[in-house]
Amino acid sequence: MSEMVPLQAVLSGRMPALPTEANGAGRRGCPLSDLRERLRRAGLRPTRQRLSLGWLLFGRGDRHLTAEMLYDEAMRAKVPVSLATVYNTLHQFTEAGLLRQLALDGSKAYFDTNPSEHHHFYLEEEGAVIDMPDCGITVDSLPEAPEGMEIAGVEVIVRLRRSRPAGRRTQG
Ligand SMILES: [Zn+2]
Repeated sequence: MSEMVPLQAVLSGRMPALPTEANGAGRRGCPLSDLRERLRRAGLRPTRQRLSLGWLLFGRGDRHLTAEMLYDEAMRAKVPVSLATVYNTLHQFTEAGLLRQLALDGSKAYFDTNPSEHHHFYLEEEGAVIDMPDCGITVDSLPEAPEGMEIAGVEVIVRLRRSRPAGRRTQG
């Protein structure tokens, strides 16, 4: 990923010159117009708020965030949004297929900027989510789906905790 352009510069149209096809063969055009196009293709009107939050969400590669984490980033980037707007936008993006909501535990919803099927490590103590490497797991023995159903996908979450020092383990 290339370096992030400051959000304020993007939204005010003061984008620094980005490589175009003339001087950057094979490079994509302006990331903001990419984002606008991505929202439109997903059936969402590219409003200023969606663009601001989309910029924070999708500008840094694959990530896993809660609404609170994105809200904190928005505050730091001086994007004027409420937590409720962040929630709504995350759910709209999820319904449009741009994000995937992860079922980790009941208390906090995590959203994945990579909506394709993949597996996760969940660090319970830190509440952090990490993508599992592609070769990390093979699910080759699944029960048959009930009559009239088919398996649409398999998501594995492996919960991690810090290993305890040897010798201090208790039985059972
Ligand atoms: Zn992920």
